[in-house]
Amino acid sequence: MDDREKLSNPQVTIQTIQKYGFQFQKRYGQNFLIDDHVIRKILRAAEITKEDTVVEIGPGIGTLTQYLAEAAGKVYAVEIDAKLLPILADTLSSYDNVEVIHEDILKCDLKQLLGEGNRCKIVANLPYYITTPIIMGLLEGQVPAESITVMVQKEVAERMDAGPGSKIYGALSLAVQYYADTYLAANVPPNCFMPRPAVGSAVIRLTRRTEPPVPVKDDEWMFRLIRASFNERRKMLVNGLRNEPTLGITKEAAEAALTEMGLPVTVRGETLSLAQFAALSDLLSV
Ligand code: SAM
Repeated sequence: MDDREKLSNPQVTIQTIQKYGFQFQKRYGQNFLIDDHVIRKILRAAEITKEDTVVEIGPGIGTLTQYLAEAAGKVYAVEIDAKLLPILADTLSSYDNVEVIHEDILKCDLKQLLGEGNRCKIVANLPYYITTPIIMGLLEGQVPAESITVMVQKEVAERMDAGPGSKIYGALSLAVQYYADTYLAANVPPNCFMPRPAVGSAVIRLTRRTEPPVPVKDDEWMFRLIRASFNERRKMLVNGLRNEPTLGITKEAAEAALTEMGLPVTVRGETLSLAQFAALSDLLSV
């Protein structure tokens, strides 16, 4: 398809929306891309080739999907909004390698969709209201995704990428970095979308690790400890742990573990690395 006929041309998007009388649904986070350069940056960051099977979350009217169909071998596009289905049938009619699936991505069994042993790359301009459940579901679940390249709210991309000591470092940074290598590919301003979102956006690629970066006895328990450590950001880590009754950690036990690790008992969660949280978890888990 000639680039001028694609939906990345704002005129084509406007015509398509008018043709179908489509109304944007805020509750579905519908902000469609209207910028060819940004879409090309997403594709470059995701390193899509004809060998790849891509799962796109939320194709909208098919803007990013048109480019994915040209670059990839196969595209599965999972969309929740039934009103978009006739539009997608039209805008994707010239591609025979795209399958649109009408489903909520949070309920979709991607393993079954792809078939046993098949891997994929996830690419999306995400609906921002469910960014964290989508990303954590993909990383924690047994989804055979090599990489996840997504447009998210800029602040969320920065949190995923942040390291110890930074103000925005927290449970999300640690969870994402346990499962994946992060790469911030681009910042994207609101005028690249229709309608314009109220926040800035960024493209981030998460490349799944084959092995966890640090050994830990019980990673599920470590993440509970991490969440408790950040519950009271401005307070000492020991207080966050003591105040989370489901962990059953006393102040004395937390202080003894920190001392054994050579850390002051007044330390705050935001200064600990993933390796230090893993060590603390191993010392405190039963
Ligand atoms: N990919 C299009 C683009 O870049 O122009 C649209 C992106 S828009 C930010 C997010 C899309 O995700 C919308 O089409 C919305 O309907 C869809 N969506 C929202 N919640 C969803 C869910 N739970 N499962 C699947 N799709 C969802």
